[in-house]
Amino acid sequence: MKWISDLINIIFPRSCAVCGKALSPGEKDICVNCLLELPHMDEYTPCNETEKLFYGILEIERAAAYMHHTKGSPYNNVIYNIKYNDRPEIATRMAATAATELVKRGFFKGIDVIIPVPLSKKKRRLRGYNQCDYIARGLSDVTGIPIDTSSVIRHIANETQTHKQREARWKNVESVFSVTSPESLKGKHILLVDDVVTTGATLSSCGKSILAATPDARLSIFALSSAGRTI
Ligand SMILES: [Zn+2]
Repeated sequence: MKWISDLINIIFPRSCAVCGKALSPGEKDICVNCLLELPHMDEYTPCNETEKLFYGILEIERAAAYMHHTKGSPYNNVIYNIKYNDRPEIATRMAATAATELVKRGFFKGIDVIIPVPLSKKKRRLRGYNQCDYIARGLSDVTGIPIDTSSVIRHIANETQTHKQREARWKNVESVFSVTSPESLKGKHILLVDDVVTTGATLSSCGKSILAATPDARLSIFALSSAGRTI
């Protein structure tokens, strides 16, 4: 029923999630021009820039991200559209694209379960969805690794971190996560998934809560966008 989607596209034209221009019929989420310039992170290698963010703050097996996050970049609009503009399905497609490459590099080897970083109940209700669930779905579609959205919860709706200083962010995310069923994560290699990693504070807080509840669990990390070690 391609003609139906073409018709919908004419009536409600989709815009590029980066530059905002109307997408051509063959384009999806991001226009060809913006796709060509997309700031891909380097292909997955051990000790990459995203892994380095967690040195000394959280013990992880490996980490990877789809694109590089820099202040003021128009590509930050993609994350904005996913989180605040009701376009979370973009996250699923981007994550699936990333996973297709990462599978070839052995990134998912030994990973038992994917856990999207949870939102608090309040924030989830306000937004209507957790964007990290959509990222997890894209990874799971490609790898077949199951998703667990119930074993870890977030207690309180902390304030938006957008304009907070690094130190304040650390304080803000302290101990907001807890593990509801440690036995279900026992001995598992968990892939924690977030949309953006900048300081690593949120993922570190979530990871520490998991390791405190299940010390024999192992952690790896995937984010759609990562600042790498640039701050
Ligand atoms: Zn564009």
